Amino acid sequence: MDVVWTDLHRGHAPQHEINMGQAIPTYERPSRAETIRDELIADSRFRFVDRREFGREPIRAVHHPGLESFLETAWTELNASSGRDEYFPEVVMHTGLRDGMGPARLPESAVTGFGYWCYETATPLVEGTYVAARASVDVALTAADIVLGGAPHAYGLCRPPGHHAASDVYGGFCFFNNAAIVAHRVAATTGTKVTVLDVDYHHGNGTQQIFYDRDDVQFVSLHGDPVRAYPWYTGHADEIGSGRGRGTTLNVPLPAETPDEVYERRLADACASISSFGSSTLVVSLGVDTYWNDPISDLALTTDGYRRCGAIVRELGLPTIVLQEGGYDIEAIGRNVHAWLDGLARP
Ligand SMILES: [Zn+2]
Repeated sequence: MDVVWTDLHRGHAPQHEINMGQAIPTYERPSRAETIRDELIADSRFRFVDRREFGREPIRAVHHPGLESFLETAWTELNASSGRDEYFPEVVMHTGLRDGMGPARLPESAVTGFGYWCYETATPLVEGTYVAARASVDVALTAADIVLGGAPHAYGLCRPPGHHAASDVYGGFCFFNNAAIVAHRVAATTGTKVTVLDVDYHHGNGTQQIFYDRDDVQFVSLHGDPVRAYPWYTGHADEIGSGRGRGTTLNVPLPAETPDEVYERRLADACASISSFGSSTLVVSLGVDTYWNDPISDLALTTDGYRRCGAIVRELGLPTIVLQEGGYDIEAIGRNVHAWLDGLARP
């Protein structure tokens, strides 16, 4: 299996996130990707390939161009005025701020743009963020091209992750929505249906929002129930899409401590829905923060369970683009991703 990789992720190396008002060491660290790389590179069945560059147009096909422009210039502008290394928004443009007054005007500076384009405080901007986020998109698109070229599957070792980034706002450690950019590009260039299967612990709110009213991209997510789990405001079972997209979103919220056997049954049920949708291509948002020892999550999957999950997805028989999302037990993240990919690839 081809693994698409870039060193450029290392430029996004924040020190902190703001958690309930306190600055703590961030969980989304470069060592996450390095650990996965070290694990896969030791297995000769995985072939590492460099990303190709696709430019900004695939990003702007999914995200507001103002979000992309903000991320390109904001750090430099903020650093010139304050000299600090990492930045978080201070005032977030909550919808209630302008209730009944129409939309806010587009911001004209990084300071006013921060809370307009970013919705929370866990996702710092540092000097290398934009370059790393752009490279992460290129990693995903390169993996997609490998599969569109005839490979049964490919793995994009994306970092930063993407599934919490919505069309007009970023957050949740994510800047550009790698999976959504890939799914849109595959659907638009082939004229076929695509499914995004999101198995990260956290609901893929950004991917859901981007495709909520579309009937050509199905979004299927298994995740911690938002009654207790980030991002709290999306991912309930009654969110099923709207308009032409009604019925193309499937949410499977899970209780705390969900074990392998229950998870695998729910995943197999979700795969039955994917089969009936009729997609040509599957995009998997692979988070392994469903692991029993993950420091920020509360499901109970094991390494052997990940291997069986990969095998369940393999049974779909679809060309499959796997993209890395979350996973924060850095000691275990490499072998868990390895196990999942092994289950997908093993004949
Ligand atoms: Zn996650």
